[in-house]
Amino acid sequence: MEITEVRVSLVERPNSRLRAYASITFDNSFVVRDVRIIEGKRGLFVAMPSKKMQRPCSRCGFKNPVSHKFCGSCGVSLNPLNQQRLSPSQLHRDLAHPVKTDFREYIQKKVLEEYEKVKKGTGKNYSEQ
Ligand SMILES: [Zn+2]
Repeated sequence: MEITEVRVSLVERPNSRLRAYASITFDNSFVVRDVRIIEGKRGLFVAMPSKKMQRPCSRCGFKNPVSHKFCGSCGVSLNPLNQQRLSPSQLHRDLAHPVKTDFREYIQKKVLEEYEKVKKGTGKNYSEQ
């Protein structure tokens, strides 16, 4: 499977590690949006689109992100979870992701190449539409 297009939208948020969103087209046939380019401690990396894991409120049943301490609907205090014990996979789940490491590296290389072009002004910034 080949990546046939990468579209980068730069994000200007001074207090965020998020640098850009990307959408990736595979084989001119399938698009994955909401890919994030993040400034990590060891440099830029590409994060696949993910959803926050949720748990229902014991009083009203409203689904809250697992990291929240109070229900977003009725305000009741949710059972405290030991945040340190929550693994990343319990907080977020990838909605689409590569299966093999070499394909993950291929995606990262293509996305970061396009990001660098857009940063230099030689690629199109899709957030300026
Ligand atoms: Zn509730």
